[in-house]
This record gives sequence, C-alpha cells and structure tokens, in this order.
Amino acid sequence: MKTWTVIELVEWTTKFFESFGILSARLDAELLLSHVLKKDRLQLYLDFDMPVFHPHLSTFRTLIKTRSNRVPISYIISSREFMSLSFYVDERVLIPRPETEILVETVLGSQKTPCHILEIGTGSGAIAISLAVNQPTWEITATDISTAAIDVAKHNTKQHQCEEQITFVTGDLFEPVTELDTLKYDWIISNPPYIGTKDINTLTTDVKDNEPEVALFAGYSGLDIIQRLIDETPAFLKKEGKLMLEIGHNQSQQVQDLISSNPAYKSYSIIPDLSGIDRFILATARN
Ligand code: SAM
Ligand code: GLN
Repeated sequence: MKTWTVIELVEWTTKFFESFGILSARLDAELLLSHVLKKDRLQLYLDFDMPVFHPHLSTFRTLIKTRSNRVPISYIISSREFMSLSFYVDERVLIPRPETEILVETVLGSQKTPCHILEIGTGSGAIAISLAVNQPTWEITATDISTAAIDVAKHNTKQHQCEEQITFVTGDLFEPVTELDTLKYDWIISNPPYIGTKDINTLTTDVKDNEPEVALFAGYSGLDIIQRLIDETPAFLKKEGKLMLEIGHNQSQQVQDLISSNPAYKSYSIIPDLSGIDRFILATARN
C-alpha cells in the first residue's frame, strides 16, 4: 500500500477540493491536515516529507469528505483567527469575517481613554474579546438574542482571560440592557444580521446551509435590525457617543438616509472594507 507524505496529501486534497469548486482549496487542505496532525501550519511546512499513517489518515479522509459537503473549514476545525487571536467556533455562531476587523481597528484607533462599550449581537465574542484584550481598562457589555451564542462567547472569554472586562446579557437588542446599571455608553457597536431573505440565493452553500439563520438574515430587505439599531441607539449613548455598524454591500445609501434623517445624530462617515465597498457607518450622537 502507498505511504502518503504530508506534501502529497496537501496536493491531492487541494486538487480534490478544487474539483468541488472550493475557492480556498490549498489553505483548507493545509488547515485540515494541521488540525488532524495537531501541528500549526508552519510546522506542517517543515514536515512536508513526513509520512502520515493510520489513524491520522482515516480521520483526515473523513474530514475531507465533510469539507467537500461544504461544511465551513472553521466549523470542522472548531477554530478561527480574528485580530491575530484564535477563537473557538461551532455551528452555534457566525464565523467571524476578516472585514469585521476594520470595526475593531477603528474603535481601537479612535478611543484612547477608558470607556464603556456596548456590543449588540456578539456571536462568538470575537469583537468584544479583541477589544478587551487590546485595551485592558475598557469595560464591555455584550449581548445576543441567542443563548447558544452567548455560551460560545463566554467560553472564548475564558480562553482569553478577560471575564472581568465583559458582561454578557441575552435578549432582543437593547431589551436586556435596560436592566443593567450602565445605561449610557461611549460606543455602541454591532455587526448585525443584514442579509435580506430576498438575497438568500446569492449566498454560498457554505454560508446558507451551515451558519445560524439568526446571525445572517434581517427581514426581506436585510435592513430590519440596522433600522432598529439606528432608531434605538441614541437613548443609550452618552453625549457625542458613537455608533458603529457593519452594513451590507448594497445598503450604504439607505443607511445614510436613515442616519441623516434622524436628528439625534450630529454627523456620520462611511468606511469602506478592503475591497473598497462601503461596509461600515460611524455616527456621532448629538446629546
Ligand atoms: N459579532 C459577531 C461577529 O462579528 O462575528 C457575530 C455577528 S452575526 C452577523 C449577528 C449576531 O447578532 C448573531 O450572533 C445573532 O444571534 C445576533 N442577533 C440577531 N438578532 C438579534 C437581536 N434581535 N438582538 C440581539 N442579537 C441579535
Ligand atoms: N458578511 C457576512 C456574509 O456575507 C454576513 C454577516 C452579516 O450578516 N452581518 O456572509
């Protein structure tokens, strides 16, 4: 029987994934084999000629099949990098996206003093935890409507040792916040669900069939949650406090209209993602 080496497995699996139309075929092959062999990717490169035997080989074969059925690689390996930190993820939470790092970087770049932040819809906790890790004096309240997601976020908070900085509450948007001592925040931030059910067929199978619906969809047009956030936020912001939201690729004009027609906001700017698409709105409250 043939003995497979690391490099041969990576190359074979890359071609196999490509034949299924998986775009990140090589990366996924490497991440999967690293996971099975419990090595990081750099170590995999150093061990390219190492033979791989049973039981690693049979585990690898099973996971290749799972990936070819379009289960996202991050769910298979239960891990995703965000802001250079490693987060536990599973089907209970959205997989953090690279563009969302811009939201975290913008807050870190604009706010230099201790502050109180409210994150709505924390999912895996990636945003709240990366802010806490980078700014140990900041206090963060993080919410989600999904108790299952909050369980994942709490697990990640423990992993990153920032339990004392983050308070978790469960419920619909601001509803659970009204019971807390802090009622006014310096920042309110969210990467809310913003995909319209009308656009469901533009999503890849990876996303559509695997990620939580409650994390993706917000009504027919996708604006339902964004609209409520824009309406309800001012009551919870300090004077000149800031709202920053991630938005869908085709929502910039509608979101600008919602903010500019609301007298509770003094000014706003639009921030693009790395592809140049309008992806965030940053608004300042008047009072
Ligand atoms: N913050 C995470 C991130 O950026 O990776 C997750 C963002 S995901 C797009 C949106 C999150 O909002 C999900 O975790 C979902 O459960 C939560 N959510 C959806 N509707 C909500 C609501 N009405 N109130 C609070 N959270 C909600
Ligand atoms: N950006 C994600 C996607 O395109 C969706 C995340 C969201 O709705 N906030 O799949």
